[in-house]
Amino acid sequence: MASVIVVGGGAAGLVAAWRAASLGHAVTLLEANGRLGVKLRISGGGKCNITHAGPPKALMAAFPMEQARFLRPSLHAFDNQAVLDLLRREGVETYTRENGRVFPLDRPGSAAAVVAAFETLAHRAGVDVRTGARVTALEGRGPRLRALCLGDERIAADAFILATGGASYPETGTRGEVLGWLKQLGVPVKAWFPALAPIPLERPRPAWEGVALRDGELRLSAGIGGRRLGAFAGDVVFTKTGLSGPAALELSQAVERARRDGSAWLAYASSMDAPEAVDATLQSEARANPRLLAATWVQRHLPERLVDPLLDEAGISRALMLKDLSKAARKVLVGLVTALPLGEPQPVPLARGEVAAGGVALAAVDPRTMALRGWENLRVCGELLDIDGPVGGYNLQAAFSTGFAAGSL
Ligand SMILES: Cc1cc2nc3c(=O)[nH]c(=O)nc-3n(C[C@H](O)[C@H](O)[C@H](O)COP(=O)(O)OP(=O)(O)OC[C@H]3O[C@@H](n4cnc5c(N)ncnc54)[C@H](O)[C@@H]3O)c2cc1C
Repeated sequence: MASVIVVGGGAAGLVAAWRAASLGHAVTLLEANGRLGVKLRISGGGKCNITHAGPPKALMAAFPMEQARFLRPSLHAFDNQAVLDLLRREGVETYTRENGRVFPLDRPGSAAAVVAAFETLAHRAGVDVRTGARVTALEGRGPRLRALCLGDERIAADAFILATGGASYPETGTRGEVLGWLKQLGVPVKAWFPALAPIPLERPRPAWEGVALRDGELRLSAGIGGRRLGAFAGDVVFTKTGLSGPAALELSQAVERARRDGSAWLAYASSMDAPEAVDATLQSEARANPRLLAATWVQRHLPERLVDPLLDEAGISRALMLKDLSKAARKVLVGLVTALPLGEPQPVPLARGEVAAGGVALAAVDPRTMALRGWENLRVCGELLDIDGPVGGYNLQAAFSTGFAAGSL
């Protein structure tokens, strides 16, 4: 039996601590916050999208290739079904939405019920939980970590598991400082980078707050009319400062990379058809229905609240009929539908991301055990790793699976 310290009482740390204690080790779990699982409690808007349905292969396919390869052994050892079975035994029933996202049954505090289940498991396995315990330094050098410091207090152990999460939502306890300490110890790390975050715009549209563009594609290019750098199919929602919604979150990392590289421009395609095809349809509609108003045509493609302001900006009268549009005016209308200009982004905030990209370099970690290569008693798991999956339960699953692997000592 070894003495094991797990740092971080989130998704990964709770599972790692429970697993290590179940295997007979003497486990202490140190959590900076006054209670466990603070980020888990706000996940999925408080409903907690626990995982995603499907075989491990499909789950892996959602991650970038290097991350998928890294996750293979841990996902197979502790997959989505294993997580759900464990929760069900603790009284948390779940359901799967049409889009494959798995949630606890919709009850008030359903995310808190997930945390409570993991807390119960950890306590029952004998984990000594210390909350309000923020680790302030790591002591030792490769190949062995000797101790952790909590201010003046020094805690030694046989083995250490770091599960301190990423660097977004710092108010949930994740400030990302551990990455700096690991770097000083010579561990290869990738700097934190914003991901799954809302995108502030150079020219936000606060008057459109809450309006959604649906069923199209958010497109990123290198400047107006520049090279296509990325796209994500899905909805976006206007906020006071810019854009949110699934497509904005998913594209945010690419947007920030493009912005830092010098040039980023966003547009939304409500119609995926080529402008020429949309123009041809517009003209045939004008022939079929000569009294159809330009405003009515735009409204078929874009939310009603946007029609007047967009027509005003384009200098096109609401009363103009489709058949009377000049070629130039037709081009403007088609442009609104095929590439509504949203403009340049401002810096994407690391703090507002559902995850932080970056973290401990995957090449420095054994994917079966989460042991840091070159270290005998130090493991890392969860978002502290350079893993960032899409929205949909993938990130929590990665935290659970890597936590399980780290705790299997
Ligand atoms: C608003 C929001 C909604 C989300 N919704 C979902 C969702 O529905 N589904 C999904 O799959 N993912 C979701 N995510 C992402 C998911 O929550 C994270 O990927 C996951 O929580 C990572 O787990 P973790 O255990 O690695 O880190 P965390 O859960 O962040 O836990 C890390 C813990 O370590 C503690 N800690 C940090 N530093 C120290 C220190 N020095 N000493 C002691 N303790 C420390 C922190 O206080 C924290 O409690 C969401 C994220 C956010 C921000």
